Amino acid sequence: MTPLPNRPAPRPSLEWHLTDLCNYRCPYCCESQQDRGKRRHGHAENDTVAATLKLLKKLPGSWQVKFSGAEETIHPRFMQVCERVIACGHTIALTTNFSPSRPKLEKLVRLCGPALEFINASLHLGQVDMDKFIKKAVFFQGTKDPETDFTVCAVVTKENFTQLMAVRNRLRQNEVAMAFQVLKIGNEFTRYPEHIEREIKDSLVGGTESIRTWKSYGTPCHTGQLFFVVKPNGRIFRCFSKKPWYNYMGNIRQDSFKLYDGPRPCLVDECTCVVPVNRNMICFGESSSALAIMKHKAECLLTRLPNLLREVRYRGS
Ligand code: SF4
Ligand code: SF4
Repeated sequence: MTPLPNRPAPRPSLEWHLTDLCNYRCPYCCESQQDRGKRRHGHAENDTVAATLKLLKKLPGSWQVKFSGAEETIHPRFMQVCERVIACGHTIALTTNFSPSRPKLEKLVRLCGPALEFINASLHLGQVDMDKFIKKAVFFQGTKDPETDFTVCAVVTKENFTQLMAVRNRLRQNEVAMAFQVLKIGNEFTRYPEHIEREIKDSLVGGTESIRTWKSYGTPCHTGQLFFVVKPNGRIFRCFSKKPWYNYMGNIRQDSFKLYDGPRPCLVDECTCVVPVNRNMICFGESSSALAIMKHKAECLLTRLPNLLREVRYRGS
C-alpha cells in the first residue's frame, strides 16, 4: 500500500464507553435505549476501568480519548476517570446529551482545562426543554476553555427539521455552533426530501458525505492500529462495524488485546460512523490486494474470534 500524497496523518484516538446506560429514551437511538427490555452491561466495573487506564499509560504519545456510547457522564467515576486520562498525557473529548448540571459542567471545565478538546452536545428535542437547553449551551459557550471546541448536534428527521432550523438560528445569534447528523436506519444513512438536503448540507457533521453512499470493503484503514473502541464490559473493537467476528480485538480484562502493526483492509461494505473519518483513519482512494484481504480475514477469524466465542460462552453476550 502506498499512501496518497497530502493525506493528513491519522490522529491516534480511542472511544471509551464507560457505560451503555442512558438517562434519555430517544425513539431513533441507535443504541436502542428506547427498548427497556434490551440486555445491557451497565457501568464499567472498577477492574475494567483500572485495566483501561493501565493500557492508556502504555500508549505512546498523546491520544485523544473520547467518551461516548450511551451517556458517559452518568458513570459515577466519570470525573475521576477524566482526571486520570489527562494525567497519562492524553486529551479528552466528549459526546453528551448535555444533561449534566451547570455545576457539573463547570467542574469538568476546571478539571480538564485545555485538555478538553471538544464537547458535542446532542440535542434531543423530545427529551428536553428546548429553551433550557439553548440557555445552557450559551452558558457553556461562555464558560468553557478557549481551546475547547463546542458544538450542538442534532439528528435530523422530517418531523423535527423546522424546529431544528429555529434552534440553529437562536444558537447562531449567540455564536454557538450547530451541526446536523443524518438519521441512520440500520446501516443506511437516510436520504431526505430535497429542501431538507439543501438546508442541512453545509452544516452536516464532518465526514458524513465521505461515507454516506461509499462502499468501504477492501480500503486500508488505520483503525485497530491507531484507533479502537473500549466497551463497558472490557471488549475492544477495531471500529463501529456491526460484524464483531471481523472487528473484535480482545478484552482489556484478559490482556488479550494487541494493536495492529499497520493499516488493515476494511472487511465490511458500509462504514457507518464519521469518527474514524474525522481522525484520518481511512485511506480513501486506495485498495488492498486480494491476498491482503485474505490474510486479514484469517488473522481475525483464527486469532481473535476464538477469544470472543470463549468470552460469549462463559460470560454471555
Ligand atoms: S441521548 Fe443518545 S444514547 Fe441516550 S437515548 Fe438519546 S440517542 Fe440514545
Ligand atoms: S473503513 Fe470504516 S468500517 Fe471499515 S474498518 Fe475503517 S472505520 Fe471500520
